Amino acid sequence: MERVLIIGSGPAGLTAAIYAARANLKPLVLAGGLYGGQLMLTTEVENYPGFVEGILGPELMVRFREQAERFGARIENVDVTSVDFSATPLAVRTPDAEHFAETVIVATGASARWLDIPGEERLRGRGVSSCATCDGAFFREKHIFVAGGGDSAAEEALFLTRFGHRVTVVHRRNRLRASKIMADRVLAHEKIDVLWDTVVHEVLGETHVTALRLRNVLDGAVRDVPADALFVAIGHIPNTSVFTGQLDLDEQGYIVSPDGTSTNVEGVFVAGDVYDVRYRQAITAAGAGCRAAMDAERYLEAAEFKVSSLAPL
Ligand code: NAP
Repeated sequence: MERVLIIGSGPAGLTAAIYAARANLKPLVLAGGLYGGQLMLTTEVENYPGFVEGILGPELMVRFREQAERFGARIENVDVTSVDFSATPLAVRTPDAEHFAETVIVATGASARWLDIPGEERLRGRGVSSCATCDGAFFREKHIFVAGGGDSAAEEALFLTRFGHRVTVVHRRNRLRASKIMADRVLAHEKIDVLWDTVVHEVLGETHVTALRLRNVLDGAVRDVPADALFVAIGHIPNTSVFTGQLDLDEQGYIVSPDGTSTNVEGVFVAGDVYDVRYRQAITAAGAGCRAAMDAERYLEAAEFKVSSLAPL
């Protein structure tokens, strides 16, 4: 029986692990097959306090993990396949094991959203990608396209200028959603141009991406443009499929929490992007992980107090 079981290993899950481990609760972290969350797919993180010159996302997550392990967190790189929160103890299953826990912290984050257009899936890994850090270097001196207009698209586009001779952002509206500093950098960059009011309609190519079919959303005009790669950066989908029917989810699949840590199930807490549609930053996720661990600890203390006050004298 675990006292605290944490599902997920991004900034939220691993911060929860650090706090729970330092509270001597020996948390078990089911980190997912690919641990570390979205920061593993990012480059330079410039806004995490304490790193004056910035730090690479994967390096930051290695540090989180090592810090949690230093205090006794056990971290397993396995995916959770199902949960049963209908009774106590809470049950969490992986392909090879069933774990029981007094408290569970859900910090499973969110994954990249795809455009769902013809050619996208077929050419994934052959020019279509959602991760510039992973795949950008394959497109040296190529013409790279980025779909999206938020901070992710801005970040991907700026990073890809290291490789491509030209980076074209395709955005469905006439202004970027990205924060001002990122938008200004994109618009000022000599290698980047933006196609406004435009969507990618289809990805073309037999064995690899050779062109994109673009559609202007104002007049409907469709044209094909030569392209070597398409990086899709249009937001995220919460990783909550295993919690369907177990936890309250909103219509987009994010976990519902009245106070940002508790859920509709006693003893189950939430932290990070799997709940937080508003801030979605590494630092806010880390803060949420801290809060969830502290609330789990208080919950365990209250449960112990209840048991000891009921015990015969
Ligand atoms: P986002 O802010 O939701 O932006 C998604 C973008 O994709 C929007 O421009 C949206 O268009 C577009 N889009 C969505 N669905 C589309 C579709 N089917 N076809 C074409 N375009 C589509 O997502 P995000 O950029 O991933 O950022 C998420 C959060 O993380 C934000 O809070 C962001 O500030 C934060 N973030 C921060 C950093 C950083 O600070 N360095 C880096 C990455 C992310 P519309 O504009 O028309 O809605």
